[in-house]
Amino acid sequence: MSCLFCQIVAGTIPSQPVYQDELCYAFADIHPHAPVHVLVVPREHIASLQDADSGKSALLGHLLSAAAEIARTKRLDDGYRIVINTGPDGGQTVEHLHLHLLGGRPLTWPPG
Ligand code: AMP
Ligand code: ZN
Repeated sequence: MSCLFCQIVAGTIPSQPVYQDELCYAFADIHPHAPVHVLVVPREHIASLQDADSGKSALLGHLLSAAAEIARTKRLDDGYRIVINTGPDGGQTVEHLHLHLLGGRPLTWPPG
């Protein structure tokens, strides 16, 4: 198993857990860009959003709902940002689909 996030989901690489259920696992980003920076990943390996076909719609919705629930738990009442970097132009560095949940400070726009 060469995928970093598959190894994190399996527990063979340590992580700081934030939330988990039967479909997804969420953990603290190792290089946080905000006071709250959580990654939400599907337990199954999907390389990127580009690889998530229509059969994955329910799973994608679940990931989004999980991120919103984590934001509520973290009391991000003033708002937050969900990011899915996709492919080289999108700045994706780990090829296992993941949502970034960023919050706890005002975030600037547009991104670089
Ligand atoms: P992306 O650039 O969208 O592919 O995001 C990958 C994210 O994974 C980056 O924000 C990294 O800081 C994060 N990351 C890489 N390795 C680890 C790790 N071992 N534990 C937690 N987060 C990680
Ligand atoms: Zn993977």
